[in-house]
Amino acid sequence: MSKMRFLALKELSNRHPLEVTPPSNDLTEYYASHVFDQKKMKQYLSNDAYEAVMNANLKGTPINGKMADQIANGMRRWAKSLNVTHYTHWFQPLTDGTAEKHDSFIDFDKEGTVIEHFSGKLLVQQEPDASSFPSGGIRNTFEARGYTAWDTSSPAFVVDTTLCIPTIFISYTGDALDYKTPLLKSLEAVNKAATAVCKLFDKNINHVYSNLGWEQEFFLVDTALFNARPDLCLTGRTLMGHSSAKDQQLDDHYFGSIPPRVTAFLRELEIECHKLAIPIKTRHNEVAPNQFEVAPIFENVNLANDHNQQVMDLMKRIAQKHNFTVLFHEKPYHGINGSGKHNNWSLFTNTGVNLFSPGKNPKMNLLFLTFLANVLMMVYKNQDLLRASIAGAGNNHRLGASEAPPPILSIFLGEELSKVLDEIAKQESSHHLSKEERSTLKLDLCRVPEISLDTTDRNRTSPFAFTGNRFEFRAAGSSSNCAACMIVINAAMANQLNGFKASVDKLQEQNYSKEEALFKVLKQTITESEAIRFEGDGYSEEWKAEAKRRGLTNISHVPEALSHYISEQSKNVLIGERIFNINELNSRLDVELEKYTKKIQIESRVLGDLAINHIVPIAISYQNRLLENIIGLKKIFSEDEYEELSRDRKDLIKEISYRISSIKKQVQEMIEARKVANKMDNQREKAYAYADTVLPYLDSIRYHIDHLEMEVDDEIWPLPKYRELLFAK
Ligand code: ADP
Ligand code: MG
Repeated sequence: MSKMRFLALKELSNRHPLEVTPPSNDLTEYYASHVFDQKKMKQYLSNDAYEAVMNANLKGTPINGKMADQIANGMRRWAKSLNVTHYTHWFQPLTDGTAEKHDSFIDFDKEGTVIEHFSGKLLVQQEPDASSFPSGGIRNTFEARGYTAWDTSSPAFVVDTTLCIPTIFISYTGDALDYKTPLLKSLEAVNKAATAVCKLFDKNINHVYSNLGWEQEFFLVDTALFNARPDLCLTGRTLMGHSSAKDQQLDDHYFGSIPPRVTAFLRELEIECHKLAIPIKTRHNEVAPNQFEVAPIFENVNLANDHNQQVMDLMKRIAQKHNFTVLFHEKPYHGINGSGKHNNWSLFTNTGVNLFSPGKNPKMNLLFLTFLANVLMMVYKNQDLLRASIAGAGNNHRLGASEAPPPILSIFLGEELSKVLDEIAKQESSHHLSKEERSTLKLDLCRVPEISLDTTDRNRTSPFAFTGNRFEFRAAGSSSNCAACMIVINAAMANQLNGFKASVDKLQEQNYSKEEALFKVLKQTITESEAIRFEGDGYSEEWKAEAKRRGLTNISHVPEALSHYISEQSKNVLIGERIFNINELNSRLDVELEKYTKKIQIESRVLGDLAINHIVPIAISYQNRLLENIIGLKKIFSEDEYEELSRDRKDLIKEISYRISSIKKQVQEMIEARKVANKMDNQREKAYAYADTVLPYLDSIRYHIDHLEMEVDDEIWPLPKYRELLFAK
C-alpha cells in the first residue's frame, strides 16, 4: 500500500471519542453566555445607551458618537469578563465563508500611557484593508477602500478571546460588497409590502418579520484520510474514486445511531452553539455514510443567517479537535447523496400571526390564502431568478441527480390545499356584485373552509414545498450562504405583494368593495400561477416532460443559470425593490461567474496533476509487473501453454496502456482548453468556456482513472479509496 494511504489508515486505528463535558447539566445556565444580548446590555450599559441600541434596531435611529463610545466601553467591559483580548468586525464577503481582522484593545492615552480602549468609532465603522475580496469591479485599484459598519440588529459575540461585531461590508461609494447589506434591504422590502397587504385585513399589523430555519447537511471525514487526498484538500470533493461495493444501498446509515466519535463532536458543537445563543435543536445521520445534519429552531432571517455562518465556522474548528474534517461541498463523493441546505421560510406579523399558517376563522384564512397565492405567483414569475440564486459549481452536481430537487422550480402544496385553491379558482366574481350577491360572496368567504392540514404526507422531491406552516426551499447547496436565496425570495415576495396590492387598490378605485377586489385578484393570482403547482414525483423523467409542456424552465448549465440575475424580471425585482443598483447587480453576476470559473479551473488543475503524477506512474509500474510476469511465463512454459496462460494478462496490459494514453491525451487537451479560456477577458465568455470545454474532461478523465483503480493492485494504489473514506473507523 502506498505509504501515505497506509499511514492514514494506521492513524485511524488509534482514534477514540473525546471526552466532552458541558459547563452545566442545565443548558439554560450557559445559554447565550457569549453573546452581548439585551440582558447583558442592560447590565453593562447606561439606560440611554441601551435605548440608543434599541431605537437603532426598531426605528433605524442613528447612534451618535457619544453614545457609541459608551456602548463600546460597555461591550469591552463585558468582553473582558470572558478574557477577551481582541475585537473584530465580522462580515460576509462574497466568498464562501466569513471574514475577520483582529485588533487588540491596546491604545495610548493622552499622556502616552498604554491603556485598553475600545472607542465608539471603532465599534461603528472600520476600514479593513480588504482589497482582495471579490467585488466584480466595483472597487477600482486606485480606490480600493471598503468599509464595515455595525449591524446593530445582530448581537456581538465572543469566540475564543475575540469579540466579534457583525457588520455589513460596503465600498466607499456605498455599494454592497457582501451578503448582509442586500439581505437587510430585502427584509425591509418584504416587511413594507407584506404589512401593506396585511392592513387590508387587520389595521393592527404594522410589521412583518421574515423567518428562517436552516438545515445544514455535511460530511465528516477523518483528517488523516482527508490529508491523504489532495483533491479533497484542494477542491473539497473527490475528483476520482471508484464507488465502494457497499455505500448507501441498505439505507442503514439514515437516522441510525450516531458513531461515538461523531457524537462527541456534535455534543461539543451544540454546547458551543448554545453559548452563542444559536438554538441548535436537531442532529441526525443523513442518507449517505458519514453524512449528517444539524438544525436550529428558526429565527429572524438576518440572525438565522449569521448563526448559520457562525455554525459552519465553529464546525470546522471543533471538528479539527476531534480529528475530523467537515466537508460542506455539495457533492464530495460521486454516486452517493450530496448535501443541501434546506431553507425553511415564513412570514410572521407583529401580532403573532404566521402568514403561512391557516387561520382560526374565515377572515384569517383569507389572509393565509392571499399570502399562499402570492408565494405561488412569486415562484412562478421568478423561477429563473430563484434558480440563479442557488447556482454554483458544487450544487450543480446535486440538482436533478435523483437525490435533490431538479433545476426545475415547482411548488408542492398537498392535496387539501390544492383543492381549496381549485375551488376558489372556479368561483364567480368577475362583475360588480349586488348587495345580495355580496353577502353570498361573504358566505363564500366563509366557505373558505376550515383548513386542516395533513402535514405528515410530505413530498420530499419538491424544491419548494409547503410544509404546514412554512415553505421549504430545498434546492440551496450545503456550502451556500443562505442569504443568496433569502435575498431573492424576500425581494421577489415584496415585488409580488406590491403588485397584488396595486391591483386591489385599482379595483377599489373602480368602486369594487375591498372584499370583492381582494377576491378577484386572489382568484386571478391562483389561476395564473397554476403551472407552478406540482404534487408528483419531482425526480421523475415524466416531470421533466410535463414541466416543459407547462413552459417551466429547466436550466442545468451554471453560467446560463447565473445570467438570469440580470434578466428583465430579475431587474424588476432586485433593482425595482431597491435591493441592488445596476452596478451592484452586474458586479454580483461577475463575481459569481468568476467564482464558477475559478472552481472549475482549480478542479481541472488538480485532476491533471493527480492523473499525471499519482495515477499514471502507478499504472505504469503495475503494467511493468505484468510484463515481467509474462516474460517469466514465456521462459518456463511451452509456446502453446504460454499463449493460453498469458492471454488475460496481455489483454490487461493493453487495457492499461489504452487508459494511460487516453488520460495523457485528455489531460493535454484539457490544458489546451484552459489556455484558450484563460485568454478571455469577459467573465461570461470565460465561464461558458470553462463549462463547455473544460468541465467535460473532469468526467471523461475520471472515467479512466476509476477503471484503473479496479485494475491496478490495491497494494500500490496511492489514494484512500471510497470504502475507506466512507467506512473506515
Ligand atoms: P424536517 O427535516 O422534517 O424538514 P427539521 O426539524 O429538521 O424538519 O427542520 C425544520 C426547520 O424548520 C427547523 O429549523 C425549524 O425550526 C424550522 N421551522 C419550523 N417552523 C418554521 C416556521 N414557521 N418558519 C420557519 N422555519 C420553521
Ligand atoms: Mg426539512
